[in-house]
This record gives sequence, structure tokens and C-alpha cells, in this order.
Amino acid sequence: MQKESCLLCQIIEGKIPSKKVYEDDLILVVLDVNGANPGHCFILPKNHYPIIEQVPDVEIARMGNIANKISSAIFENLGVQGTNLFITNGVPAGQTVAHFMMHVIPRKEKDNVNLEWQPKQLTEEEMSTVELKIKEHANSIGGFKTGEQEKTIKQPEPTTTPSSDEDEDYFSRQLERIP
Ligand SMILES: [Zn+2]
Repeated sequence: MQKESCLLCQIIEGKIPSKKVYEDDLILVVLDVNGANPGHCFILPKNHYPIIEQVPDVEIARMGNIANKISSAIFENLGVQGTNLFITNGVPAGQTVAHFMMHVIPRKEKDNVNLEWQPKQLTEEEMSTVELKIKEHANSIGGFKTGEQEKTIKQPEPTTTPSSDEDEDYFSRQLERIP
């Protein structure tokens, strides 16, 4: 599908109305009108990329960062117990629109959203074969741009620190998400 006929590009350009919950120069986050649960969000790169392999590192990193923060916003404000961060990449994987995106799906126990599968049993040899096939290409992973992030991390602590009670409370609530 070309950009001109892409449903998500039309949402990004405002030709189709949507409920926008976040926007910056590269990314738009909208509510899914057919969401699995209330608060189901799409994280959309504003540029049109059909599949994840085409998305530049800086944009996929931004998407991951925003998905994490949207997940926190959902968890903190919608009374849910968890989230799924979900990508359908390719038609067999369930991708229905040729514009890459990430889903953030709010989850509650017994909410009838089913992402389960039957495990495939592989022999030791089959496992080793797929391990090697992936490893061979995974060896070229690297060259991440970390300079700016390192600078951010090395910044001195602010003089007014949040109360540790608040921190602990937040941390324990995050842990409660893990069954
Ligand atoms: Zn598009």
C-alpha cells in the first residue's frame, strides 16, 4: 500500500479524525477505536514504513521510549493490572495495515484478550540450528548511538529529590503488575 492510500497516514495528517494522546515531531499516539480494552493505544511513526525493518534506529528507539511511558500512564490512570506491548510485523503475524506501529494494550485479569499459544516442541538439534541461524546475522547488531543518552544519565541529581516513600510506593505498585 502506498502512503497516499494509507489509513494511518491519513490519521497522522488529520484527514481522518482521531483521539490523540501524545504527539511530537516523529511520533503520534492515538486511541484504537476498535481497541481490545479501553485505553488501547497505537504508537505510530509519522513517516510511512510498512514493516519494522525499514524504521530507522532513532525512530524505533523513540517509539520504544514512548510506548514505555504510555504504558505507565495507562497503568497509573486506568486502574489496570498490566499492559501488552504488541507488534504485528507482516501479514502472517496479523498485520492488517501497511504502516508499522506498536500497540499498547491495557490488561486486567480475565479480560478475554487472548494472546496465548501452544508451545512448539523442538529437538535439541532443531533448537541448535535455529540458534545458529539467528546468531549468524545477529553478530552484526551494534553501533548504537549512545552519546546523548550517556550525557543525560551523567547529569547531576536534582537538589530537590522526590520523597523516598513515594518512590518505594511507585516501585511496589509496579511490582504488583508481575503475577
Ligand atoms: Zn502510512
